[in-house]
Amino acid sequence: FNVGKKDKEGRNIQVVVRCRPFNIAERKTSHGVIDTDQNRKELNVRTGGIGDKAARKTYTFDMVFGAAAKQIEVYKSVICPILDEVISGYNCTVFAYGQTGTGKTFTMEGERSPNEEFTWEEDPLAGIIPRTLHQIFEKLSDSGTEFSVKVSLLEIYNEELFDLLSPSPDVTERLQLFDDPRNKRGVIIKGLEEITVHNKNEVYQILERGSAKRKTASTLMNAYSSRSHSVFSVTIHMKEITVDGEELVKIGKLNLVDLAGSENIGRSGAVDKRAREAGNINQSLLTLGRVITALVEKRPHIPYRESKLTRILQDSLGGRTKTSIIATVSPASINLEETLSTLEYANRAK
Ligand code: ADP
Ligand code: MG
Repeated sequence: FNVGKKDKEGRNIQVVVRCRPFNIAERKTSHGVIDTDQNRKELNVRTGGIGDKAARKTYTFDMVFGAAAKQIEVYKSVICPILDEVISGYNCTVFAYGQTGTGKTFTMEGERSPNEEFTWEEDPLAGIIPRTLHQIFEKLSDSGTEFSVKVSLLEIYNEELFDLLSPSPDVTERLQLFDDPRNKRGVIIKGLEEITVHNKNEVYQILERGSAKRKTASTLMNAYSSRSHSVFSVTIHMKEITVDGEELVKIGKLNLVDLAGSENIGRSGAVDKRAREAGNINQSLLTLGRVITALVEKRPHIPYRESKLTRILQDSLGGRTKTSIIATVSPASINLEETLSTLEYANRAK
């Protein structure tokens, strides 16, 4: 793979945009500024004016999803090809990037339909994480491959690490991060709980456990849900016997990352003066932008070490890995400023 190349097969960073439907508050107070064309992979923003005088800006991405796009569509077009890479033994990462309230968590985790109308596996509102785990078991169970699946869920808040699957009731316990002496690109997260998922029936309760801890964390840490990064990692160990009777071992890892709200960094990706004064610099979000830019531009130095998030993901960003960024935006004029900032960020990552 070649970072930054424009040909379809050769690139390893893919950027897609998803625009969510209007919510009730936006319907009352503002008008629509986004048009999406899923076939042409274009997103058109009305940046000002009306009628003939309207100023417009068009962006092209690898894929564009409009307000009508269903969870399954996003899963099939964005995640299926990535999961195939993971099953071939590569590490991959999917990020949800965008302003708070634009659908990052809806996209990554999804929701449950009311009244327990569906089981978790069949729920049309299920997001990428439950769908991926379900698919891993579907794909590998009858494949003749021996396999095991492990998951972890860690969150970064204010450059500190928290384990959302830890058996400890204390959600404020921090984890320590060390360089792995045996692996140049790896880190060791001391004490991080990695849970073996034996079958798809165990998936849902593990996810529920993470959500419960996250709720507690939100009551203890200021603006936790908008300022924290959530990293859900699935590691698959696979063992196949080749036609020559040889044992072939593959390990693939997929990181599904729900990033802090993009309003936490300034417009140009630089640290906003106001944010700096308020002590709200989100080092991980800022560094991620720099790492992606450095990868896209094939710079010799990639600043992985400058934040916790990029250190943790170092073995799954760049090199022989694939990365997808799902940028989420609101359709409403009231959010125009943040929407443009998200689109510019996404555009730089292409
Ligand atoms: P974020 O995680 O970016 O802060 P959420 O995922 O919590 O945003 O979404 C905010 C609200 O918008 C939620 O109530 C969610 O149900 C709704 N929402 C987001 N994206 C969609 C979508 N594509 N379709 C329907 N509702 C959505
Ligand atoms: Mg969220």
